[in-house]
Amino acid sequence: MKLYNTLTRKVEEFTPINDKRVKIYTCGPTVYSFAHIGNFTCYVYWDLLVRTLQLEGWPVDRVLNITDVGHLTSDADDGEDKMEKGAKREGKTVWEVAEMYMGDFLENFHALNMVEPTDICRATDFIKEDTQLVDALYEKGYLYDTTDGLYFDTSKFPKYADFARLDLEHLKAGARIEFSDEKRNPSDFAVWKWIRDGEDHAMQWEYRGRMGYPGWHLECSTIIHEKLGEPIDIHCGGIDHIPVHHTNEIAQTECAYGKKMANFWLHNNFITIEGQKISKSLGNVYMFSDLEEKGYSHMDYKMWVLQGHFQSERNFSFEDIAAAKQRLLNYRNFAALRWQKEATDMSEVRKAMMVQLENNLNSAGALAELDKSMSTNVPDEEFVKFLDDAFGLKIAESTPDISDELKTKIEKRFKAKKEKDFATADVLRDEISDEGIALLDGADGSIWQYAE
Ligand code: AMP
Ligand code: ZN
Repeated sequence: MKLYNTLTRKVEEFTPINDKRVKIYTCGPTVYSFAHIGNFTCYVYWDLLVRTLQLEGWPVDRVLNITDVGHLTSDADDGEDKMEKGAKREGKTVWEVAEMYMGDFLENFHALNMVEPTDICRATDFIKEDTQLVDALYEKGYLYDTTDGLYFDTSKFPKYADFARLDLEHLKAGARIEFSDEKRNPSDFAVWKWIRDGEDHAMQWEYRGRMGYPGWHLECSTIIHEKLGEPIDIHCGGIDHIPVHHTNEIAQTECAYGKKMANFWLHNNFITIEGQKISKSLGNVYMFSDLEEKGYSHMDYKMWVLQGHFQSERNFSFEDIAAAKQRLLNYRNFAALRWQKEATDMSEVRKAMMVQLENNLNSAGALAELDKSMSTNVPDEEFVKFLDDAFGLKIAESTPDISDELKTKIEKRFKAKKEKDFATADVLRDEISDEGIALLDGADGSIWQYAE
């Protein structure tokens, strides 16, 4: 299996470090507001990754974190805490805000029929472990204290710029000077923030005799250390995470534990909506509830995502999701043939689809192979299960066989039509249609299909 690895900027052959299980970490959401449909594209791609690995015969240990503390509105360690901001906006406590949006995130995550992660970890459950990581960095001399917090001195990690190919000189020239001039280098970042006099911050913990809270990047290093152990096989996140968040995760982990963090790094690109950036001011921050209102399900959305590639910028339009909905219906009706005709041997199709998926998760290519095969093939239950294993589109469960009664009615209608008793045929067709079933007439019978 080949994957594009941000670490080397190359498509590389993937093999697990431990040939029995694949360790994956995917950076999760900050739960301070509702996630929009753009935020969820990555989880569909990472679900495809997990499913493809499983089809390759490799069990996966996958950890997803939920950021419920310490993520500032800016990457530069200034700005408000996103959680505090959400709480103020809604007149709730930060804990209530976290609970509500985490609930909403997980509801959508499950509705998207994702393979359940081995662990879903909340950042606030790892504060003690966070402080142990800070201790380790402190003892090794990577940190310095400022009025704002404990900062990581990036000049002490010579590889700091490598991952994101950062131009540190350029960064220095363009640097804003924040909180006086205590920061030694523009790229230095807080691993632990102090609560300053008069500062209103609901989430705080005692550490080194003072109250404070973890820097945003810390939780991922901590949770990976606790739950998976370095190095992991694959670390996933958005491309926006490359220059700061992931660069800082690598610095913390490699300096604290002296081990490589991850062998492969996968980064998903962004989506635009009707050609524009997703933003509140443009009024295009669509949630799943907006899609539902227009008649599109979580599975229609997932189908739309799978038509693209995690590395490509995508543009979402309602025209395109309408086409994706139709395509998914076509697959379901292909699956419905398993109740009506004798199955053909689809092992070559399955192989061709796997070749595409193994090629850097080319789901679009795999779906094209499926499309090519459909006019001449009939799937069996096993092939339909393979489709669900690969894509998680709930094809099997959404295409049950119809009742014997309905089947008899379909036969009666066909017979009536053949005998030119069109009045009877039309009445029966309407009754069948009321059950959500459409008919395709052939020479010696009708094929039934789901109408939606
Ligand atoms: P935000 O809460 O807006 O910071 O978004 C959280 C994460 O979701 C970001 O770090 C991105 O990786 C991802 N994300 C945000 N907007 C988009 C988008 N339009 N398309 C794909 N991913 C996005
Ligand atoms: Zn992370």
